Amino acid sequence: MTNQRLLLGATLSYSGNPMQSAWEDAVKIDTEGGVLIEDGRIAAVGNGERLRADHPQAEVTRYGEALICPGFVDAHVHYPQTAIIASWGKRLIDWLNAYTFPEEMRLSDPEYADQIAARYLDLTLAHGTTTAASYCTIHRHSADALFEAAAQRGQRIVAGKTCMDRNAPDGLRDTAQSAYDDSKALIDKWHGTGRASYAITPRFSPTSTPDQLAALGGLWAERPDCLMQTHLSEQTDEIAWVKELFPQARDYLDTYEAHGLLGERGLYGHAIHLEPREIDRIHATGAALVHCPTSNTFIGSGLFDMAGLTARGIPVGLATDTGGGSSFSMLRTMAAAYEVGQLRGTPLHAAQLIWLATAGSARSLHLSDKIGSLNKGMEADLTVLNLSSTAAIAQRAANANDIWESLFATIMMGDDRAIADVWVNGTKRP
Ligand SMILES: [Zn+2]
Repeated sequence: MTNQRLLLGATLSYSGNPMQSAWEDAVKIDTEGGVLIEDGRIAAVGNGERLRADHPQAEVTRYGEALICPGFVDAHVHYPQTAIIASWGKRLIDWLNAYTFPEEMRLSDPEYADQIAARYLDLTLAHGTTTAASYCTIHRHSADALFEAAAQRGQRIVAGKTCMDRNAPDGLRDTAQSAYDDSKALIDKWHGTGRASYAITPRFSPTSTPDQLAALGGLWAERPDCLMQTHLSEQTDEIAWVKELFPQARDYLDTYEAHGLLGERGLYGHAIHLEPREIDRIHATGAALVHCPTSNTFIGSGLFDMAGLTARGIPVGLATDTGGGSSFSMLRTMAAAYEVGQLRGTPLHAAQLIWLATAGSARSLHLSDKIGSLNKGMEADLTVLNLSSTAAIAQRAANANDIWESLFATIMMGDDRAIADVWVNGTKRP
């Protein structure tokens, strides 16, 4: 008996950061590669036939020309918005009031929260996403629901109870004290349990009083091993509102900074309309930004400066922002990041796009030592991409000069049909 599995196919490996050096030096594809899995971890990566000769007892799965990638990591989502994805015609504040808050209210029913958590993870796993960092609702059980559903599936997950104590409807507000108490109880229960990590989660400055922000900043100071996730400078009218609500603040980021909510393990979603001081402070603290391109075009927010911000060395993750984003698919999200790059005159290469969706997002979540790349000792979360998944893609792939051209066609035109298999912690998922 052996518990070794050997996957043969094309394999993707990273030796550097393709956002800061030439992508050719940082990302490689071995078209005759192999990944050996043992006890849920990657035991070896290398030439496929050599691995087969060295490990004759391993059970072999042949993927042919398919590309074995690290599982996709979605660095910013709202699982409670699964059922309202693709809702028409609003900008941020109206969109929250018209679609998001009524749906998040429905998750006051624990059974419904369980149902949506399971649906979200099943849908995203089918799209090749093996880890997500999710906002929940203000209800404590909404975080339990996602952590439990992820544990059942053996999935690595980052999540936090969303905190809001103003500018939200009745039934969707907590208080400074209850946000602190509930978040703390959830940290004690889930942070570091199995594959779960906790992110302290104030939704954004407009829905938290200074007291609540300070309470959560205090909690983060007590538990600096947790992540902290929130939103920053998504739309210009949102920024104007923040200025009204916090007249003393130097800028939007300062509303977090002044309350202990700026730090290296901080994740700031969107970050489109940044002031020079904000960029300097984010750079100085080592905090990460999260780019949500389908959301930014769908809600009409603006064009993230990927090239400028990554050139400064700021860590950037890639994310769907379900359901402000218009897709569960990280392939579609990579395509949108390419399109946003084009509109800014800085197109991203396929190697950069796939790196952002795996290693880049893992880095932003401080999980690079566990997920996001195919290296010995990493947790075996893998997504296998069929690079000819539809007739339209197959005819383009047949005309490709190299595997990068094929991969780019799948990034631009692929969906869940391109996901040949997904492995979670060394187990193939249905
Ligand atoms: Zn969001």
